[in-house]
Amino acid sequence: MKKIIITLLLMLISLPVFAITVELKTAGKNEKIIGEIGYRLLNANRIPYKITFFVLNNAKEPNAKTYYRDGSIAIYDSVIKYTEDENEIAGIIAHEISHAVDYRQGIFKGLFSYTNWFNSKNYEYKADKRAVDYMVKANYNPLALIVALNRIGTEYRYDIFSTHPLTSRRMATIYEYIYTKYPEYLVQNKYISHPLYQNFLITSEENRKKLEEKVKSKSNKKVKYL
Ligand SMILES: [Zn+2]
Repeated sequence: MKKIIITLLLMLISLPVFAITVELKTAGKNEKIIGEIGYRLLNANRIPYKITFFVLNNAKEPNAKTYYRDGSIAIYDSVIKYTEDENEIAGIIAHEISHAVDYRQGIFKGLFSYTNWFNSKNYEYKADKRAVDYMVKANYNPLALIVALNRIGTEYRYDIFSTHPLTSRRMATIYEYIYTKYPEYLVQNKYISHPLYQNFLITSEENRKKLEEKVKSKSNKKVKYL
């Protein structure tokens, strides 16, 4: 009997302390970059939820996703390869942090809050705007979100069958939000001569005209971007 108890005790103390549900690989340069930017955003915005960041290696396309089950955020390694500066990566992570926050809010710690299955486009716009706020708070330049989206966001003909709004609409909405809430970034525009920002200025000409009309008429109506 004594022997059985000792064996059981030995078994107990040899159990792993943490129940790790993901396979951890050696942390490399990418993990360090993502971790530093991610926690800077979380801390500057005093986000009260436990959020974990992972790098998804050997990704074919630049993307990022937030897991509904545990609010962890995976950044594809290609995002780091494609982007040029920390502000762009911060924009992509900040957008995902907004989703992770949504997944934790509501009834039963957000268990029933996943309404974005039915309303995904509004959640995307919300995440983009919140990303701008998160970036500004953490001292990142929010215009980099437009640069990053222009870089990695492809454009479908129509957004009707997609969970995401058209990239051009997202960029125009982000631009309007920065224009309204943080115009100082447009006055002192550090990205003005960046080729991807210049490209955005060309492709968004119609949409920026729509915004100009809205500002002139002082209307509160939502602009329908192309
Ligand atoms: Zn999203």
